[in-house]
Amino acid sequence: MLTEPGMAAADSWRERDLKVLWHPCTQMREHPHTLPLLPIASGRGPWLIGQDGKRYLDAISSWWTNIFGHAEPRIAQAIATQALTLEHVILAGCSHPPAVELAERLLAIAPRQDGRSPLSKVFYADNGSAGVEVALKMAFHWFRNRGVDSRTKFIALENGYHGETLGALAVGDIPLYRRIYAPLLAESIFAPSPDAYLCEPGESPADRARRAAQALRELLERHADEVCALILEPRVQCAGGMRMHDPLYLKLARELCDKHGVFLIADEIAVGFGRTGTMFASEQSGVMPDLLCLSKGLTGGALPLAAVLTTQDIYDGFLDDSRERAFLHSHSYTGNPLACAAALASLSIFRDDDVIARNRITSERMRQLAAPLADHEHVADVRQAGMIVAFELSRGGDKRKGFDPAQRIGLRAYRAALERGVLLRPLGDILYWMPPYSIDEEALQLLAATTRAAIDHAVQEADACA
Ligand SMILES: *Cc1c(COP(=O)(O)O)cnc(C)c1O
Repeated sequence: MLTEPGMAAADSWRERDLKVLWHPCTQMREHPHTLPLLPIASGRGPWLIGQDGKRYLDAISSWWTNIFGHAEPRIAQAIATQALTLEHVILAGCSHPPAVELAERLLAIAPRQDGRSPLSKVFYADNGSAGVEVALKMAFHWFRNRGVDSRTKFIALENGYHGETLGALAVGDIPLYRRIYAPLLAESIFAPSPDAYLCEPGESPADRARRAAQALRELLERHADEVCALILEPRVQCAGGMRMHDPLYLKLARELCDKHGVFLIADEIAVGFGRTGTMFASEQSGVMPDLLCLSKGLTGGALPLAAVLTTQDIYDGFLDDSRERAFLHSHSYTGNPLACAAALASLSIFRDDDVIARNRITSERMRQLAAPLADHEHVADVRQAGMIVAFELSRGGDKRKGFDPAQRIGLRAYRAALERGVLLRPLGDILYWMPPYSIDEEALQLLAATTRAAIDHAVQEADACA
């Protein structure tokens, strides 16, 4: 039950917030009446504690960043210790231990084949979109440095997402984020997604991957001399609705990139750091990218940081007597020591707690708890990749017949779940679980029960309004 003082405190925060803040990814007019605003006081493990005194299960890891739970003591301690030592220093011309050590450790765990990885250099940025910009600019600039001026485009996948800055939006294909800015964006070439949800009847996910790779082959045959890189999200198109594909696709895409001399950029900003069952999703395809973008879980969700891992060959392409050939991209907070210290603590947790092995057990439990929902009247698909489970809602469970967007089923489910103490943030009408890895049995059961209740409630409420 809500306590009176708790409710009053929450209301007062809501009021102060809406006077001064403009929230991300939000139609502000929906606050507070259509969309409740949830003031948070603190966090502990997978739980957020509201100003109202209630606890909420963070089932989406706070936008997929928080992999171990909130206020993780080892990460907090590492940040505090670093803050009392060196909080920040310019990384052009200076060096510091956390930046060097983190680069060493990232390269040591990078995707590899026969024990070796071609990735040998790390460039830091301070958020995922900025990391994507770095990778795109590097790929383009490398060809320029070789005297190749024709390769000015990128191939990206339909339904892909790479961030919100203009370069990242140009290779993204989610109309909600992209459409309005289209006149500002560089032209990209979009290849069909290997998305297994789009399988024709009788087609397997591997068949679908082969069909999408065939389309990529044709695009590359036509456009290779205009293209510097292919960018994609391995295994799961997260913002595109947690759409999953067979690892075979990345393997085929790698072969095609090699054949046409095009770089492969793996955007593992969301799927990296154990989210899909392996440390990096690319590992499931036995493939190594030329540029690997990491962020989100990199610091365990504590501080913003991105790292772009790249090959010696790309690095060497910038070495010259001329500054113009150098990669002059820079952010003031490049390689921030606090963020690097948090990332180092996070990597130690992976090792000390044997996180990947433990996640195997947790994801199996998630599979068991999600399975019964496949039979729900309005669930068209339940899919899973490691620590991500997604539920595709559709009237009568018919894949081709989504809910009328005006019914706002996802939003209704969001509100219903929040009332039951679970923070789900559906992507349209797709509900998903992407919890901190520390989620326990009690929380998992609450999550499963709440998901079912939220779907039931959302459909009933929408139908009652119709
Ligand atoms: C979130 C995300 C980004 C952008 O990262 P930000 O830190 O939000 O800018 C890029 N690519 C993928 C795949 C993402 O999920």
